[in-house]
Amino acid sequence: MEEGLLIVVSGPSGAGKGTVCKELLNKNEDINISVSMTTRQPRDGEINGVNYIFNNEDNFKEMIDNGDFLEYAKVYGNYYGTPKKYVLEKLQSGKDVLLEIDIQGALAIKNLYPDGVFIFILPPSMEELRNRITNRGTETQESLVERISSAYDELKYLFKYDYGVLNDEVDNAVRRIESIIIAEKCKVKRQKNILEKI
Ligand code: 5GP
Repeated sequence: MEEGLLIVVSGPSGAGKGTVCKELLNKNEDINISVSMTTRQPRDGEINGVNYIFNNEDNFKEMIDNGDFLEYAKVYGNYYGTPKKYVLEKLQSGKDVLLEIDIQGALAIKNLYPDGVFIFILPPSMEELRNRITNRGTETQESLVERISSAYDELKYLFKYDYGVLNDEVDNAVRRIESIIIAEKCKVKRQKNILEKI
């Protein structure tokens, strides 16, 4: 059986990657999202086990020591990590897995798993990015300033990714990612048994 595709999506805060990923998953039930673990406090409406697995720092650090994460990073003062078991089991059983993680995490995964597909979501403009972060209303003033300034820094990492997807409209961005997935699956190197199927 062919391994599933590991799809890694990142991009600056405010690029709209959360919305794009949600819509991608709605339209493609066969893609499995890896639910990350975090030590940050849940925001209003976030559900444990759905948006994130919320955990305290002691437990998180214990899991780091046990090697339970595929990658982890400290982002805006909180830990975030990708639980290893879920991702590896899905990929090995031929299922596609989506990781929506920050740039540090994506680069760590790229070293570990170069066969993954690395997608960077771009905002339509920097002005729009600032508006989105500001209007989200979930951030404190301090976190707002931090997120806007790191969004600028993060753009330079675009060139480490395989694909840059402009999020001018969510539907367009989703269609672009779906096309990337189709093209990646057609790569000969990913279809070792293709001749046996015809
Ligand atoms: P937020 O607090 O807004 O939900 O997420 C903050 C940042 O952490 C986002 O860039 C998000 O993609 C990233 N993130 C979420 N889960 C993970 C993870 O498991 N690993 C890493 N490295 N980053 C993550």
